[in-house]
Amino acid sequence: MKAVYVEQTHRLSIRNQTISQLGENEVLIKVAMAGICGSDIHVYNGRHPFRTPPVSIGHELSGYVEEVGSNVKNIPIGSKVTVNPQVGCGECAYCRSNQINLCENRQAPGVGNWLGAMSEYFIASANTVFVLPNELDNRAAVLVEPFAVAFHALEKANLTSGHKLAILGAGPIGLMILLAAISKGVSQNLITDIRKYPLEIGEKLGARQVLNIAKHEDWLKHAEELNGGKFDRVIVCTDSSNIINQALQITKKGGKIITVAMFDDEHSINMRDLQGSEKEMIGCMTYNENNFEEAIQFLNETNNLEEIINNLISHILPFNEAQKGFQMVANSQEKVIKVLLEF
Ligand SMILES: [Zn+2]
Ligand SMILES: [Zn+2]
Repeated sequence: MKAVYVEQTHRLSIRNQTISQLGENEVLIKVAMAGICGSDIHVYNGRHPFRTPPVSIGHELSGYVEEVGSNVKNIPIGSKVTVNPQVGCGECAYCRSNQINLCENRQAPGVGNWLGAMSEYFIASANTVFVLPNELDNRAAVLVEPFAVAFHALEKANLTSGHKLAILGAGPIGLMILLAAISKGVSQNLITDIRKYPLEIGEKLGARQVLNIAKHEDWLKHAEELNGGKFDRVIVCTDSSNIINQALQITKKGGKIITVAMFDDEHSINMRDLQGSEKEMIGCMTYNENNFEEAIQFLNETNNLEEIINNLISHILPFNEAQKGFQMVANSQEKVIKVLLEF
């Protein structure tokens, strides 16, 4: 079978790979589609904390069950599935309190022996596999994982419907957080970006306010004006320079800042503001099982799924054009939102 690898910084390849022997608790999935994630781009740029090229890549997928191990009883062959792409050790304090995302020995695709999901076949532990309704669109099924990120961010934010919410960065994750927040009844929301097109998508998906911060040097003031004051929650989905202090500045006293973007560089923080106004800065890492359940429920129940898919997924490419897809995302091209590879 074929599998996509990041061979070195900015260079992908398609390798021929043998499919590993299936373990008794494992599931072999014929991959239909895989999504290019912001974290994959960090690998592509040679700046991922624990994935160093050459590595196989990909962790967002939809596919069909091809074969199951001898102990797997509850996952029928042929079912449509996606995977929670992390496995905990099962023994550490985090695993025992349902926080596999913080496990001391967390395993993920593309690390160690676990081959990435951008391959024709993907093997996952049965307990990480989610069986989806067969009629759920493959494109929607790939979005389960990033939507789980979005729901985890809202959980960390302890967001309620009355909150005034700012989302900084209208990439796929920012837009999915917007949709997740709207689904929870948050009507007072604002989303920012430096590109026009993602903000147009944000508007179509129901954003109350959008703000192109490239157009306003004093965008912090504009954000507060549009909102009628500071925000209860500010979710950071971009790692642009000084974004943390900007987020702090538009957060209410006692409000929370949630960082979802992956930061490559150190940022200094205005501690006087943080401390004196009792603001909280919260890190946010992947998701847990309950967030997958929320994401699946959202995609199953929303009555504008087609509109969501069509707006969020800007490109679908055959997997042998992975290099092109990664380049499009890495360069933040104007009309690029979510890019999927088809297998
Ligand atoms: Zn992802
Ligand atoms: Zn653990």
